[in-house]
Amino acid sequence: MTYGRILSLKAKLTLVYTILMTAVVSMALVILFSVSNQEIRTSVQGKLRQRVSEATQEVTYKNEELRFDSDLLELKDNVYLSLYDTGGNLLYGKIPYGFDQTTQFEDGNLREVVSGSVRYDIMDMSYPLDGYGTILIRGIVSISDAEQDFRSILRFAVIIFPLIVILAALLGYGMTKKTLAPVKKITDTVQDIRQKSDFSRRIHLGDGKDEIYTLAKTFDGMLEHVEESIKREQQFTSDVSHELRTPISVILMQCDALLEKKNLDEETREEVFLIQKKTQALSKMISQLLILSRADQGRERLVMENQNLSELMEITTEEAKERAMEKGITVYEDIQPNIMKKGDETLLIRMWMNLLNNAISYGKENGHIWVHLSQTTDKITAVIRDDGIGISEEALGKIWDRFYQVDASRSSTESSGLGLSMVKWIVKVHGGNISVSSQLGKGTTFTIQFFVNEEL
Ligand code: ADP
Repeated sequence: MTYGRILSLKAKLTLVYTILMTAVVSMALVILFSVSNQEIRTSVQGKLRQRVSEATQEVTYKNEELRFDSDLLELKDNVYLSLYDTGGNLLYGKIPYGFDQTTQFEDGNLREVVSGSVRYDIMDMSYPLDGYGTILIRGIVSISDAEQDFRSILRFAVIIFPLIVILAALLGYGMTKKTLAPVKKITDTVQDIRQKSDFSRRIHLGDGKDEIYTLAKTFDGMLEHVEESIKREQQFTSDVSHELRTPISVILMQCDALLEKKNLDEETREEVFLIQKKTQALSKMISQLLILSRADQGRERLVMENQNLSELMEITTEEAKERAMEKGITVYEDIQPNIMKKGDETLLIRMWMNLLNNAISYGKENGHIWVHLSQTTDKITAVIRDDGIGISEEALGKIWDRFYQVDASRSSTESSGLGLSMVKWIVKVHGGNISVSSQLGKGTTFTIQFFVNEEL
C-alpha cells in the first residue's frame, strides 16, 4: 500500500507544504550563512585597514619626543594597535594576549596568521613620521572573535529553525483545512443523499470563484437534473399503474362472468381460470407498484388510527391458514391479545399477509410456521418464522430490493419481487424496523419491532 492511499488529501497537502517550506527555509539559511560569513570577514578586514591608517594620525613627534594618543589603546572594532620602531621594539599600543610578538613584519600586507591556536587577521604598515623617521604600525584582529559572533547567530538559527518548520506545518494544515472545508461539505451531502436517497438535498456552497465552488455548483446542477428525472420516472410508474387498474378489473370481471357460465367445456374453463390467476397476480403487482411509487413521491395517504394489532394479525393469520393447509403446513400462533398500535389498517394487513404468504410459498410441504406477537414497556415485537427453503447469505442483502427474486422459478406465479420492498416501507412509515435471519435449507425468520412511544 502506498502513502498516497493511506493519507488524507489534507495530510498530503500539509506534508508537501511543510517539506517545501522546510527546503526553502533551509536553502535560504544556507545562502544567508555563507554570504554573511563572507560579509563579516570582509567588514572586519575593512575595519582593520581603517584602524591601521587612522593610527598614523594618533602619533606625533615634537620636541624630540614621541607622543601617542590614548585612543591607540582602545579596542575599537576589536582591533588591537601596536607601534614599533624599525628595530622591532614596541613603542606603544596593545597586542592580544598570547599573540606571538616575533611575527614577521610585512609592510602593507593584510594576511591571516595563526598564533597560539587562534586565527588572526593582521595588517602591517610603515609610516614616515616627520622628524622621527619610520615607525611601524601593526593592527591585529581576532578572526575567532568575529566567528564567535557569527556562531551565536548560527546557534540562534538552529533553535529557530524547527520552530519555523512547526509553524509552517501548522499554517499549512490550517490553510489546507480551510481550503478543503467545502470538499467535506460536498462529501457529507453526497453521503447523506446515498444513505437517505433524498435527491432534494443540495450542497449550496454559496458564491465563490474557485474550482471547488464551480464543482459544487456543477454537482447541484446535476442533482437538480437527477431529481427531476426521478420525479418524472415516479410519476410515469404511478400513472401507468393507475391506468392499468381499470382494464385489469374489467378482465377479472369478465373471467368471473365466464367461469359462472354452466355450459363452458372443461378445457376452456381451465384456460379462463389460468387467465384469471395470471391477471390476479398482475393486479397484485400493480397495486404494490402503485403503493411504492406513491410512497416514493410522498403521495401515499396514510390513515393512521388506533388499531388492535393482535386482532388484525389473528384475522390475517386465520385467512392464510387455508393456503397453508393446501401445502400441509401447520401454523402455530402465539399472539398476545389486545396489543394496540397506531397505524394504517390496510397497510398493516398487507405487511403481515405478505410475510405469511412468503412463509407459505417458500415453506416446505408439511412444514411449519410460527407466528409471534408480544409487547414490552418500550416495544412491540412481531416474529414470523418458517422451516422452509431458507435464503442464502449472498441473497439475504438483496431481498429488500424491488423486483429481486432469489430464484424466480421457485417463486409462486403471483410473485413479483416487490413484496418485501413494500413490507419494508410499511414498517418504516409505522416507525419500526424489520430484520431477517435465515439459513439455507433450514428456514427463515423475519422480526419486526415497533417502538411504543414513537410519535407518528
Ligand atoms: P416475491 O413476490 O418474489 O415473494 P418478495 O419481495 O416478497 O418477492 O421476496 C423476495 C425474495 O425473497 C423472494 O423471491 C424469495 O426468494 C425470498 N424470500 C422471501 N421470503 C422468504 C422466506 N420466508 N423463505 C425463503 N425465501 C424468502
